[in-house]
Amino acid sequence: METVLIIEDEPAMLRGLEDNFRANGFSVITASDGESGLSKALDAQVDLIILDIMLPKINGYEICQILRKKGIGVPIIMLTAKSEESDIVLGLNLGADDYVTKPFSIRQLLARASALLRRTKQQGPAVYSFGPYVLDIQAMRLTCNGNDVVLSPKEFRLLEFFVTHAGRALTRDQILNAVWGYDSPSGPRCVDRFVTTLRQKVEPDPIEAYLHTYHP
Ligand code: CA
Repeated sequence: METVLIIEDEPAMLRGLEDNFRANGFSVITASDGESGLSKALDAQVDLIILDIMLPKINGYEICQILRKKGIGVPIIMLTAKSEESDIVLGLNLGADDYVTKPFSIRQLLARASALLRRTKQQGPAVYSFGPYVLDIQAMRLTCNGNDVVLSPKEFRLLEFFVTHAGRALTRDQILNAVWGYDSPSGPRCVDRFVTTLRQKVEPDPIEAYLHTYHP
């Protein structure tokens, strides 16, 4: 059974959400202000957070930001009373995964919750290790024997793509699309450059090769 934490200060809304999530097989924890919501998010084993934005004490944006800064990657759906795009963008930038705008249909929220949970499960483990290295995807951190290895955001994305596709041969175009995106102005050769710099960081000893180049 999956546990959802609902943080919402409006009693009728909170009760409605609680009843509906319970009726759909969730175990439900509730909080009616930001402070208790944050402490429950930090203490309890939660699979999903439904997070109102305008909350007493600590608002939803701050909760989102604090959780992500602590490396807690639990999926978050924001409930926003505002439909202004800038508010939604702010929430997503602070680490929310999805949002619904009030008034919303409960069926739509439940569908989004299920889709998000499905997506999260498919992503597999968030921490990968190879040799002395540990790559923590949610914390965006690479360590070698416990010491931080500094990667640029693109190098991180590239390494993430490699570790999540370990054992597979990947073409330059696949790598380019996954890491740089379809509208990238960079040519496939920029992959080579980044692989070279990544190698310098994760293969200091050339005997221990993690990245292999294939010439079919
Ligand atoms: Ca509110």
